[in-house]
Amino acid sequence: MINLISDTVTMPTPKMLEAMMEAKVGDDVFREDPTINALEAKAAALFGKESALFCPSGTMTNQIAIKTHTKPLDEIICHEYSHVYQYETGGYSFNSGVAINLLKGDYGKITAQQIKDAVKPDYDWLPKSKLVIIENTCNKGGGSYYKLDELAPIYKACKSKRLKLHLDGARLFNALVETEETALSHGVLFDSISICLSKGLGAPVGSLLIGNKDFIKQARRYRKVMGGGMRQAGFLAAAGIYALDNHIQRLKIDNEYARQLGKVLEELDYVENVRPVKTNIVIFDVKKPFKNSAAFLEMLSKHHIKASAFGPHTVRFVTHLDISKEMLDEVLYVLKDKMG
Ligand SMILES: *Cc1c(COP(=O)(O)O)cnc(C)c1O
Repeated sequence: MINLISDTVTMPTPKMLEAMMEAKVGDDVFREDPTINALEAKAAALFGKESALFCPSGTMTNQIAIKTHTKPLDEIICHEYSHVYQYETGGYSFNSGVAINLLKGDYGKITAQQIKDAVKPDYDWLPKSKLVIIENTCNKGGGSYYKLDELAPIYKACKSKRLKLHLDGARLFNALVETEETALSHGVLFDSISICLSKGLGAPVGSLLIGNKDFIKQARRYRKVMGGGMRQAGFLAAAGIYALDNHIQRLKIDNEYARQLGKVLEELDYVENVRPVKTNIVIFDVKKPFKNSAAFLEMLSKHHIKASAFGPHTVRFVTHLDISKEMLDEVLYVLKDKMG
């Protein structure tokens, strides 16, 4: 099976497993797991922040960030495609009691001007604008990314409007290997940052929430109440350390394979509207002879290829660590000669 459903489907590599097996562990609720402490220190340093928090998932890091930055009756501002809105079970409302102000924009991206215009005046019948969330790369936007020169005005707008700024950077490194910008230069712009170890970086479990000391201190309390205080989870953190040390640069390969998929898809009669391929995500629409995305995916599965439906006629491919050159060539061959 060739699995293009998500970059979450990767298996730990033999060397990553070795690093996990050799991890020194302790009880992290007592802050006594040396491997988790090392991972948190490493992530904080990478982004030039004081502190970090290891969590089971990116949903939890985002939800804790919202909870820590806001009070009930506040409002968060983000693109309508955002993971926090689309794929976190409405958690912003459930966990934090906040309203949401959804903005539109090309490929999941928003601008400084939109943010300034979205801020609500101070009336007691309006929610209070408090937090902006930027997703980089943007999943539903087809893996689009923001560069520093787009983020700097957003940072300034948030400062001038007294808004906190959170980065959902689940796939940030897929962008950074393209732009050759540093994590440090992005880190200074945000009050908090979430990165996923379990996406393109290839770890089995885990995300990090990164910020200043006081923010992470409070975030740690919320992690506990959400049930995310883990014990000897250093075995998992070891995979994260291994991933940060060894799996960032190779994301270029995933991005390149996605580009090749996009290029071939653009030439096919049964495909339209291939979104610009910027990183490791390819989103496109299917048409005749395929009635819908389900029909396309069924045909694809007959050739042992899995992908996901992203709408009635929309399909998503995601490339990752476990997609080899041979697999890519096989997918390209099937798309060109076996479908349609
Ligand atoms: C995957 C993802 C998350 C977190 O997802 P989990 O599956 O909960 O780890 C958050 N934001 C974006 C953009 C994602 O793609």
